[in-house]
Amino acid sequence: MSAEIIDGRAVAARVKEEVARQVAELPVRPRLATVLVGDDPASAIYVRMKREDCAEVGIESFHHEVDADVAPGALARLLGHLNEDERVHGILLQLPLPAHLDQDDFIVLIDPVKDVDGLTAANAGLLMQDREEAMVACTPAGVIELLKEAGAELEGTRAVVIGRSILVGKPLAQLLLAANATVTHCHSRTRDLPAVCREADVLIAAVGSPGLVTGDMVREGAVVIDVGTNRTDAGLVGDVDFESAKARARAITPVPGGVGPMTRAMLLVNTLRAARLQS
Ligand code: NAP
Repeated sequence: MSAEIIDGRAVAARVKEEVARQVAELPVRPRLATVLVGDDPASAIYVRMKREDCAEVGIESFHHEVDADVAPGALARLLGHLNEDERVHGILLQLPLPAHLDQDDFIVLIDPVKDVDGLTAANAGLLMQDREEAMVACTPAGVIELLKEAGAELEGTRAVVIGRSILVGKPLAQLLLAANATVTHCHSRTRDLPAVCREADVLIAAVGSPGLVTGDMVREGAVVIDVGTNRTDAGLVGDVDFESAKARARAITPVPGGVGPMTRAMLLVNTLRAARLQS
């Protein structure tokens, strides 16, 4: 069997087109405030790309650069100011923050309706309660779009999620549960991970361990989504050993070009939603 390769770039392009169409029809222009603390080059690139995405679809972005040694109170004040500013619909605090700042102390300050990364406890709680107004974290929301693209029937399916981070694994498991999948949630203490994975009709790896999931862990005909993004000497690789998994899967995402582009696209979707909710 040769698996369908799920083209995240193509799906993301379609999502962006749709966002652009809806932005054009909106009476207000959605606006995203981006906050970059410090001078981490990778974070600077991520923020720049997100702002370019915004410009492409007609979302305005305001960028705030903050010194790495910013006092916690000053960063808190900036977030408070952005919460109050009616021109700002979404706030993106680029993570990670410099070591002297605890990110949880700042995420909690973001107004949940402007929390376009879906990271606040308020939005996690709304998601847990299956509430429509929940702002869902971009990566898990993007994974669900990719599963739709692959034609995966989630209702009643056996889904296995590896990884239980607040950013990816937990909201993803919650979304799958809300879609009536039967969800098994794995982590570093899971016993016999290969056997658990082999039960999955939908297998999602969000770990950060190159090649953790090998072909023998993939059920014949499963849909495999690889969230992992690992920089290795061989370049950017996922958590799934692509070649061996592809030989058994029905559909599979590549790295790069799978989940990554969808994460960026879903930020635009969330910013559009935030603008709608606030206007
Ligand atoms: P994280 O916070 O480090 O969480 C990793 C999870 O993997 C933890 O729950 C951990 O279990 C589990 N784990 C570690 N080793 C394991 C093992 N051997 N077997 C089973 N589970 C294991 O990572 P994250 O933020 O969720 O990110 C996960 C990966 O996705 C990373 O590669 C990251 O770069 C990537 N990512 C990609 C995107 C994208 O847009 N493509 C976005 C976000 C993240 P414990 O809880 O027991 O420690």
